[in-house]
Amino acid sequence: MRKSIVAGNWKLNGSLETVSQLASGVASQVSNLNSEVVVCPVYVHLNPVASAVSGKKVALGAQNCSAQLSGAYTGEVSPGMLKELGCEYVILGHSERRSLFSETDSDVSEKMKSVLEQGLVPILCVGETLEEREQGLAELVVKTQLLAAVEGLSSDAVQTIVVAYEPVWAIGTGLTATPEQAQQMHSFIRGVLATVSQSVAEQVRILYGGSVKPDNAQELFAQDDIDGGLIGGASLNVEDFVAICKAA
Ligand code: PGA
Repeated sequence: MRKSIVAGNWKLNGSLETVSQLASGVASQVSNLNSEVVVCPVYVHLNPVASAVSGKKVALGAQNCSAQLSGAYTGEVSPGMLKELGCEYVILGHSERRSLFSETDSDVSEKMKSVLEQGLVPILCVGETLEEREQGLAELVVKTQLLAAVEGLSSDAVQTIVVAYEPVWAIGTGLTATPEQAQQMHSFIRGVLATVSQSVAEQVRILYGGSVKPDNAQELFAQDDIDGGLIGGASLNVEDFVAICKAA
């Protein structure tokens, strides 16, 4: 059985004070849950959030990182530095990084390698745009992103990753993939992972992301191949996020 995960992607939001409150609020209400709970603040909020969740059942994740481990890369943050701050997870290849910051499949692939080498768990985001879905290209796009990201990795390494299927048209729009649409893509993703190995396909957790809210989480998470969620907007509210964690 795969252990479910709910990860909050806080994006570029909050202040030192509000993220600490948010983290403590979540930490105080998820101690009895079976699923893993992860919160992903911006880099400069990692330290205070680590303090707020220390000793609690909430893991820490970053929203991005450099593929470089050290050196002359002004403005970058390495996976080793994230690990030192207590991070266990790193979101990679989020559609906002791909579309707004021109991240390519090959950039994501380099980051995957560095993150895994440092013993962190990548939450690899894949997903098609509305245009791509309408053209019947959704599966091809997702498969291409996924295979590029795991290329050159050992099956032992791939086994540890988390994949997040986030249809771009559902992110922050209030539109959600139906449970059937999501399940269909998750099952397809598991099929692509089976080309690495069957045990990889069975073990990798695949999260759904895109306008997950307390009122649609349960139905989505009830699908066979949906192992939790990557939550944007709704993760900024303690009650909503905890309700989603409880649904997983
Ligand atoms: P959303 O964002 O829940 O606000 O749609 C999800 C994400 O971007 O990870």
